[in-house]
Amino acid sequence: MEPETCSGCPVCRHTNRLLPSPTDPPFGTITHLCTICDTPNDLWICLICGNVGCGRYAGGHAKEHWKDSAHNFSLEIETQHVWDYAGDCWVHRLIRGKGDDKIMELPSSSRVEGEGEGDLVPREKLEGIGMEYTHLLTSQLESQRIYYESLLSQAVSKSAAASTAVATASEYLASTQAQLDALKAEHETLKSDTLPNLEKELAREKRKAEKSAEMARAFGKQLKEERKVSEGLMERIGWLEERMGEIKREVGVVRGELEQEREVNRDLMFALGAGEKLKEMGEEVEGGSVMVPLPPPSEGKGDGRKGGKGKGRK
Ligand SMILES: [Zn+2]
Ligand SMILES: [Zn+2]
Ligand SMILES: [Zn+2]
Repeated sequence: MEPETCSGCPVCRHTNRLLPSPTDPPFGTITHLCTICDTPNDLWICLICGNVGCGRYAGGHAKEHWKDSAHNFSLEIETQHVWDYAGDCWVHRLIRGKGDDKIMELPSSSRVEGEGEGDLVPREKLEGIGMEYTHLLTSQLESQRIYYESLLSQAVSKSAAASTAVATASEYLASTQAQLDALKAEHETLKSDTLPNLEKELAREKRKAEKSAEMARAFGKQLKEERKVSEGLMERIGWLEERMGEIKREVGVVRGELEQEREVNRDLMFALGAGEKLKEMGEEVEGGSVMVPLPPPSEGKGDGRKGGKGKGRK
C-alpha cells in the first residue's frame, strides 16, 4: 500500500495526488477529467485499467466503461470507496485516511466520510479483509476470463468468416484469372492468327475486285467497239443490199437487152438462111413453091424476154 511501490499504476497515481505533498498544490485543487465528457465532478477510476469516468449523477461514463469492458470495480476518487458493478454494491472496506498513511476500515458500506477515523484495525480483521479482497480479485479475474473468452470466440468466428471470405475471394480470383487467361489466349489468337488472315483475305478480295472492275471496264470498252463495228457492218450490209438491188436491176436490163439482141440475131440468121436456101432452090427448081420453115422457139425467161421485147419494141 506504499505509494512508492506502485508508481506505474494509474489508480495509485490518481489516489496519491489526493495526498498533500510539498510539490503538490493544496488538496482539492487538482482536477481530473472524465475521459469522455471532460467533467471534473463525480469521477471514478477503474481499478482494472485506470480509466477515469464520471458517475451516474454526471454523464454516467464510468458505468459505460464497465459495460464496454466488464471491468467490475471502480474507485470513487472523491471518497476512495470501491463500487462493484456486477454485485451492484459497495465493496470497499479499507480506505486510506487523508493526510496520513493509516489504514482504516469502514464500519459499513455507507458513504459517511470520516467515520471511525483514527481507529487501528486488528490483525485478524486485516487478514479476513485480505481474504475477501483475494476472493474479489479472483471473481474479477473469472469475469475477465469469461469476458475475454467471449471476445476470443467472437474473434475466432470473425476470423473464420474472414478466412471463408478469403477462400471465396481467392476462388473467385482464380476463376477470374482463368477467364482472363482464356480471354488473353483468345485475344492473342485473334491478334496473331485470325486478324492477319482476315487482312490477307481482304487484300486478296480487294485485288480480285480491282481485277474484276478492270475486266468489266475492258469488256465495256470492247462492247462499245463491237457495237461500233457491228453498226459499221450493218451500214455496210445496207449499202451492199442497196447495191445488190441496183446490180440485179442492171443485170435484168442487160439480160433483156441480150435477149433482144439474140432474137434479132436469130431473125437475121433465119432471114439469111432463108435467102440462101431460096437461091439454091431457085437454081434447082425454077418456078416451084417454096416451104419456109418456122424459126425455133427462143430460150430464156418469159419475164426477161417480155420486158426485153417490150423495151426493144419501144
Ligand atoms: Zn496501484
Ligand atoms: Zn477499466
Ligand atoms: Zn463523463
